Amino acid sequence: MDKKKIIIAIDGHSSCGKSTFAKAIAARLGYIFIDTGAMYRAVTLYALENGAIEMGILDEQRIVAMLPEIDINFRFNPQRGASDIYVNGDLVEGKIRTIEVSNYVSQVSSVGAVREKLVALQQQMGLKRGVVMDGRDIGTVVFPDAELKIYMTADPMVRAERRYKELTAKGDSVTLEEIYENVVSRDKADMSRAISPLRKADDAIVLDNSHMSVEEQMEWFLAKYNAIVG
Ligand code: C5P
Repeated sequence: MDKKKIIIAIDGHSSCGKSTFAKAIAARLGYIFIDTGAMYRAVTLYALENGAIEMGILDEQRIVAMLPEIDINFRFNPQRGASDIYVNGDLVEGKIRTIEVSNYVSQVSSVGAVREKLVALQQQMGLKRGVVMDGRDIGTVVFPDAELKIYMTADPMVRAERRYKELTAKGDSVTLEEIYENVVSRDKADMSRAISPLRKADDAIVLDNSHMSVEEQMEWFLAKYNAIVG
């Protein structure tokens, strides 16, 4: 008999490997993986490219007015083994992970209307369950009824080093210091914003992966998953 399909909500700090972990879980279980950070990044990129962020200032009214013209969807990319994100039909996967987008995304994601639009989309994507979704408010706001909630964290310097390696491997010219600052300031902004701040859901299990390999994390996960699904 097929196993019951559940929702796995993964929230936590910036750059602690939530997406890598969520993607590996989805591949293992045959679930759909949804990277909600990519959705906030895509809206931020659109704002940057269309004049809602100018000279470092976010024009909130402008971005809210733009929301109806931003159509976001995911298409599975078999080469990556994950879905790529598209905005109005354009593939933006490669453009949303720059330091520029990272520097504005927390501001954009604190706008209520942006969250309302993206949360509604995320809830629709999880209607049939069988999804692993990672973000900041998945276990608290998007799917408070998720059967398995994980709250991930890791030492900020370990996280900055991981992100630094990822970006420099892609050829981005960044310094470890600016990445560290971005990681710390995004945590602060995400945890202190008025709407849907990042916080551990009461029923979430904490995973600190500062000193864990991907394999160790998977072992940890499977024990929790099997205890729920059997
Ligand atoms: O996960 P990632 O680091 O790519 O997310 C980028 C930013 O998007 C976060 O720093 C946060 O400001 C925002 N975000 C959010 N809610 C989510 C996912 C991401 O506010 N569910």
